[in-house]
Amino acid sequence: MVNIGDFWHVKSKAGDSWLWKQLIKSRDYAVNLLGGVENLKNLISSCYVNSKVRLSALYNALKPGSKVDRHDTVWEKLNYPKHSFIMWLAIQDKLLTQDRLHKRGIIQSNQCLLCEGAVAESRNHLFFDCNFSNCVWNGIMEWLKFKLRGKGSKQRIKRLALTATIYNIWRERNARIFKEEFRSVEQLIKAIKVDTWTILLNSSLPDEAYNWLL
Ligand SMILES: [Zn+2]
Repeated sequence: MVNIGDFWHVKSKAGDSWLWKQLIKSRDYAVNLLGGVENLKNLISSCYVNSKVRLSALYNALKPGSKVDRHDTVWEKLNYPKHSFIMWLAIQDKLLTQDRLHKRGIIQSNQCLLCEGAVAESRNHLFFDCNFSNCVWNGIMEWLKFKLRGKGSKQRIKRLALTATIYNIWRERNARIFKEEFRSVEQLIKAIKVDTWTILLNSSLPDEAYNWLL
């Protein structure tokens, strides 16, 4: 077992577990981004509030810079940090989809559980090709009805709904794999709307923004 003092400098070895290697990779990513271990440690201590790390502050500080396109969409101020985080991983193709786990020999089957077709679950399938996901996307597009054309607040609401959709598709996939809980397309669309509304009602958008969606 590595003590936490070593954690900042320890290197992964051939026999280490896959999970441990991932943890070290994340650490290195953050260290590179901030230009050194000390900077990362300072950042983490600055994100403590009442002895709890404020994850949103950490996510914000570690958000990708110019390396990732569309980072405005991902780190849009209105988005939930957890939504942004999943979106960010999805864009970078870092989500642990079943095709990956299957290649590493961690699971035996890699079939997409959303459409239950005999299709391997990859990032591209899950978010862009899957029949189930497509029905969800269509429902959300229908809801927004393209009436949110234009810039400013309308653009922000669209991004918000987009990020909430990615998050909820990923969450549904996890619920099916790990809890054997299945929701229908309609239930998922409803959950995305609730998420979107919850964020909107806690934001300081102009009143007309709410009317666009009603
Ligand atoms: Zn599918």
